[in-house]
Amino acid sequence: MIYIVEGRLLDTSENTDKYAADRFQMVQYQLIHRGIHDKRVLKAMSEIPRHRFVPDMYQHAAYEDSPLPIGEGQTISQPYMVAIMTQCLELKGDEKVLEIGTGSGYQAAILSVLAAHVYSIERHEPLATKAKYLLKDLGYGNVEVIVGDGSVGLPDHSPFQGIIVTACSPKIPQNLIDQLAIGGRLVIPVGNPFGQTLFQVVKTETGTDTKGILECVFVPLIGKEGWREEG
Ligand code: SAM
Repeated sequence: MIYIVEGRLLDTSENTDKYAADRFQMVQYQLIHRGIHDKRVLKAMSEIPRHRFVPDMYQHAAYEDSPLPIGEGQTISQPYMVAIMTQCLELKGDEKVLEIGTGSGYQAAILSVLAAHVYSIERHEPLATKAKYLLKDLGYGNVEVIVGDGSVGLPDHSPFQGIIVTACSPKIPQNLIDQLAIGGRLVIPVGNPFGQTLFQVVKTETGTDTKGILECVFVPLIGKEGWREEG
């Protein structure tokens, strides 16, 4: 497939499964037309089979402009949201990245081809197990899926050059900033369960630079540094 991004051609490699045309439309109209410009992100999303990460009954809708249910009351995020969050990490390829909220494993697969190593934490064991085996099956060998409370991060494996939280937090957790390398980026939706702002937080020598990116709605981050289970 050939895309035109900011006047330049982006040639993606083998892209021939039965959803290739849907995926092309998704990248062209949902991502490029809305301003996603990181070519590595666009290439990853034009190649990774999102339909494999959703339940069979939703495969036909895998490339639509919306989140979809994945079980346990959770969702795989809208493609545009995956793209903008990944773009905000500004990955070059040699990073160690932490994802909080594995869900289906789709975001982890994207990170897998954009970074050197990915740790991904999921609190629902059935989702974590399914994602772990799917990622292995599809050959994303540099992803480690861990069952647990990701709101506390993964201090033993820190520092990370990127941390992405795919559930909504009541605050920007200081413990996650502590686990970032200098120059590293935290991407996190912060607000209440009904509406949040997506923030990009860059750790500097002296503190942090924080930028609001867009308004969004994510499922809650449940855990010690997030929301209590009963809501
Ligand atoms: N990134 C996922 C994907 O690509 O499918 C979508 C994530 S879904 C929007 C948010 C996920 O965060 C859910 O699977 C939920 O169970 C998980 N979650 C919520 N709180 C968590 C916590 N404290 N630790 C780990 N996972 C958590």
